[in-house]
Amino acid sequence: MEKKLQELKTRLLEINDLNNAAALLSWDQSTYMPPGGAEARGRQMATLGKLAQEKMVDPAVGKLLDELRPYEEGLPYDSDDASLIRVARRTFEQAVNIPPSFVAEFTNHNALSYQAWTEARPANDFNRVRPMLEKTLDYSRQMAEYFPGYGHIADPLINFTDYGMKASDVSAIFAQLRKELVPIVKAITSQEPADDSCLRQFYPQDKQLEFGLKVIKKYGYDFNRGRQDLTHHPFMTKFSLGDIRITTRVHETDLGDALFSTLHESGHAMYEMGINMAYEGTPLANGTSSGVHESQSRLWENIVGRSRGFWDHFYPDLQATFPDQLGKVSLDTFYRAINGVRKSLIRTDADEVTYNLHVMLRFDLEMQMLDGSLSIRDLPEAWQERYENDLGIAAPDNRDGVLQDVHWYAFTIGGVFQGYTLGNILSGLYYQAALKAHPEIPAEINHGKFDTLHNWLRTNLYQHGSKFTAAELTERVTGGPLRIEPYIQYLKTKYGELYKLD
Ligand code: ZN
Repeated sequence: MEKKLQELKTRLLEINDLNNAAALLSWDQSTYMPPGGAEARGRQMATLGKLAQEKMVDPAVGKLLDELRPYEEGLPYDSDDASLIRVARRTFEQAVNIPPSFVAEFTNHNALSYQAWTEARPANDFNRVRPMLEKTLDYSRQMAEYFPGYGHIADPLINFTDYGMKASDVSAIFAQLRKELVPIVKAITSQEPADDSCLRQFYPQDKQLEFGLKVIKKYGYDFNRGRQDLTHHPFMTKFSLGDIRITTRVHETDLGDALFSTLHESGHAMYEMGINMAYEGTPLANGTSSGVHESQSRLWENIVGRSRGFWDHFYPDLQATFPDQLGKVSLDTFYRAINGVRKSLIRTDADEVTYNLHVMLRFDLEMQMLDGSLSIRDLPEAWQERYENDLGIAAPDNRDGVLQDVHWYAFTIGGVFQGYTLGNILSGLYYQAALKAHPEIPAEINHGKFDTLHNWLRTNLYQHGSKFTAAELTERVTGGPLRIEPYIQYLKTKYGELYKLD
């Protein structure tokens, strides 16, 4: 059995190497590659993706997994070996349904579509990407069709990113959340909006970057295993447990954009950095779901990084970094500015209270595109309608409308947005559990110390990688299933104080 397990690990390691080589090519495409490289890069990533897929679905892998079943069943569920075999089998069973030729075609298409989007968005030219998006929808539907027996056609796509969840589960949670959120948004946005002009002065790029890096170093982001570069749409990527990178973008007239994106991506990165090193090269060495991943980025970005205690500590430092811009701006004014709640157009810039409305409308549009009730041709208009309906605001153009997010232009349509809001909900749930175990955490944050929180997260969440599903992890950490109450309570407490709500 040991020999068979070793053979499985060797095969998985090769697949892992191919995928990580492709991830490096993708990182390069999004950071330093000149536009002329796009076509060949798409082909190269497709080749690697196809090779990895061929190796994953090799019948020899299936045979090994079958032969290892008795060994797995003799081990405790949470043992490393049993978990590795279990997660590898799940990956195999998902992969084996998708032909390698499809993976190659779709990967190639995605690289070209991404490149087109980087040009179409600044040019406000939806028609430039429309034919590509139509193909993406076809590919996404095709991908779902490889997993027949679903309830909603989005189910298989959601299962890829948030394993174990269905469209109907997500819709039910979102409906609950919307019911709670809408009155809060209404109560706040009927007031005079917070003055955030202090954030919209000129802030030189290098100083912005320097400050963000200083904060995440204190968080515990390990620069021996990471770095930050510039890109169009910030992301975290990993080539091994020893090389976990983040990216950001800077607007010199918006202090919040780069800073909070850096805090956000550092949360994703610290999750991966905290995974047990013994899992390197195996399917266990990944965050377990998009929702759990996003819970960590949102926790470090918002619950910590936009808290009053955090800025009690860091604001004098920020003022010293930007004395001309912030020297005369009080902490109160700044704190209100970074937590200003307004009906806005851009998801990534949205405040904590309205953010989920942006996500939920995207989720609904995805469902409609996939089930055929919304065509790509009608998408820009449907987008505008939903923004007017849900947020009472319409984008002046497609650039800040349907073109604003990279996801549909680089991945599937379906399965990519629900994780953001699931993550917000989980961030509240996990943070509550951390505070229960360590009530001293807020006082530490107040002193710019994050060790207790970071260690608790590492011990209870990060180290396990993909060993447990999101549902299992949540049960272990909080003693129950996913629920929205702690997150809603967090929002009500924080924003109730800020906006004097009852
Ligand atoms: Zn994120």
